[in-house]
Order: sequence, then structure tokens, then C-alpha cells
Amino acid sequence: MEGLVTANMGSRYEVTLDDGSRIDAVAKGNLRIKGVRTTNPVAVGDRVTVVPAVNSPVSYITAIAPRRNYIIRRASNLSKESHIIGANLDLALLVCSPANPATATTFIDRFLATAEAYSVPAMLVINKMDLADSDPDAAAYAQALEQVYTSIGYRVMLVSTLTGQGIAALAEALRGRTTLLSGNSGVGKSSLINALVPGAEVTVAQVSDAHHTGMHTTTNSRMYFLPDGGVLIDTPGVRGFGTLDFDRREVGHYFPEIFAQSHHCRFGDCLHLGNEPGCAVLEALNQGTIPPSRYDSYVSILTNDTPGNTQKYR
Ligand code: GDP
Ligand code: ZN
Repeated sequence: MEGLVTANMGSRYEVTLDDGSRIDAVAKGNLRIKGVRTTNPVAVGDRVTVVPAVNSPVSYITAIAPRRNYIIRRASNLSKESHIIGANLDLALLVCSPANPATATTFIDRFLATAEAYSVPAMLVINKMDLADSDPDAAAYAQALEQVYTSIGYRVMLVSTLTGQGIAALAEALRGRTTLLSGNSGVGKSSLINALVPGAEVTVAQVSDAHHTGMHTTTNSRMYFLPDGGVLIDTPGVRGFGTLDFDRREVGHYFPEIFAQSHHCRFGDCLHLGNEPGCAVLEALNQGTIPPSRYDSYVSILTNDTPGNTQKYR
């Protein structure tokens, strides 16, 4: 039997068969990606072959169809194991908020760089736009985020699950696609799924709980079917992509506007850290073509997320 993995619950998977029925299954045999230690050999979004088990309600996943793409994240800071958080993705969407809580640009940039690294198109949704009506700081921050990210070429959509602003346009943008949803705790990701998927009934946190969700508490993922076609993959335990595994030379490739300038640096191996002569990235930064917050995120990833010592940034 063939089916689609629609939920990952620890070592068990929910597989939705092509006739629409759902079964529980476990992975059987060696299905792992070569050279990568993953906690889950199978990911939500995988197309799989399932064999019913004799005398057991749990079936076996015996094969995974070749993946178009996937996004992997290290299971935790200290772990050598990785978790595949979604496969066969058309879009990686980060839900942000201009306030309560304001989403940090370093968080956004790590997400975008990860999506670039796995060649998955990325998009930002700024939720809670209703807050901008009463809070000038929230309005200014939302506007700054929209300006910075659209200038780089990312699509940014402004929504409010509270007022319904932008929800129809977002539904249209997601129609027919497989979208991985991420977002810091409290930004309204659950509310957004409920707004887009009638009957999803994802639990919405009380305001007081919103900031207390652990970073590594759960790695379960679930797929939701959009009413007009397409699916959302929610990864409740994956709040961001804090731990990256980039090679130092690669980091600049995942910031499109930095990558574009880097071709003009005097030295081909320029890391754009301020002590290399003829650096076109620093020149663009000084001229305002590269947003300072993006450059800071670049330096932060280079300093914190890549093996080996990094030359000191000025
Ligand atoms: P999640 O942690 O990202 O899944 O966020 P939730 O959906 O649980 O929402 C967190 C809090 O934000 C809840 O108190 C929601 O009622 C609130 N919230 C969600 N969307 C909006 C919105 O558009 N505007 C405002 N003002 N609050 C919202
Ligand atoms: Zn340079």
C-alpha cells in the first residue's frame, strides 16, 4: 500500500493511505539518509510504502519514495542526531509577530538561511497586525520587517487572526502547496492554523503560557489539509532553527543579498568580517544596500554556528 506520512508521534507515524484511511505505522529496516544520524528515519510529507503487520494494529513502513527536498535540524545543541522536520516541501513559512512577542531578526534570519540551505522557498507572515493600530512601536517594527525582507526578495504577508486581515490572501498563497509552518512560541501559529483549516482545533495558548514553551520538548509534526487543496505541516516542538551546521564558507551563500555582493569582493574567500581589504559586502553595508540587521545575523551565525575559530568582527 502507498500513502503519505501525515503525523510523526515519536517512533510511530500516522500514514494516510491513498483511499483516505489512516493507519499507524513504524519504520522497518534501514530507511535513513546516508551519512546523517536522524532521530526519525521517516518524516511528515514522505510518500511511503506500507505493509500491514500480521496480528498487530501497527503496520510497517518499508520504503520511502525519493524526497524532492527536506529540512533537517539538529535535535539539540549537544546532540549529534538530527531531526527531519518535513519532506517534499514547496514552501517554508515563518509566522512572526511585531509585538507580544516581537520576533527577533536573528531568529528570522536563521530560519531563512536554513530554508536557503535546503533550497526550499521561504516566506514570512507577520501576524497580530491588529496590534499595530494601537502600538506605534509594533507598527514601526512590522513596517521595518516588511521593508527589509521584501527588499531582499522574500514575500511578506501581513495578517491578523484576530480581525481576519490578510487571511484570505494567505489562504490563496498557500493553495495547492505543501507548506512547512514555523514560528516562535506565542506568535499565533496555532491560531493561524485554526483560521486556515476549519476543524483543525489546534490548542491556542493562553497569553500567560505563551512564553514558556520549551525549545526541545517535542519534535512531533503533523500535517493539516487545506480546504482548497494543499497542506500545512506544523512542527510544534520546533520553534526555530537555532542550531545550524554550516560550513563557514557557506554561510554567505544563504543570505541572497550578501551572496550577490560577495562576487565583487577582492578576495574569493572573503568572509566579509571587516578585516579583509576590498570587501564589497562591507561597502554595501555602509551604503545601506545590505540591511544592518541582516549583516549582524550573518556574523552571528558565522561566529556561533560554524566549526573553527572565526576572525574577530571589528
Ligand atoms: P502559538 O504559540 O504560536 O501557537 O500561538 P497561539 O496561536 O497559541 O497564540 C498565542 C497568543 O496570541 C494567544 O493568546 C492568541 O489569542 C494570541 N493571538 C493569536 N493571533 C493573534 C492576533 O492576530 N492578534 C492578537 N492581538 N493576538 C493574537
Ligand atoms: Zn567581502
